[in-house]
Amino acid sequence: MAYVINDDCISCGVCVDECPVEAISEGDDKYVIDPDLCTDCGSCADICPVDAPQPEEG
Ligand code: SF4
Ligand code: SF4
Repeated sequence: MAYVINDDCISCGVCVDECPVEAISEGDDKYVIDPDLCTDCGSCADICPVDAPQPEEG
């Protein structure tokens, strides 16, 4: 399980420094989370102004 950043992301970048395992980086058209690093802590979702990071379904 990992969090996934959806298309609502406005690329503000504030979530990057919130992630304790540095799993978030800037992608082509939005920020992305490395699922191999994400520990599902939810800190990025808490800080995101548009609720773009969501727990991956399944
Ligand atoms: Fe990082 Fe936690 Fe967000 Fe995963 S849920 S990307 S570990 S801040
Ligand atoms: Fe995108 Fe939200 Fe991260 Fe900003 S805080 S870069 S809107 S996911």
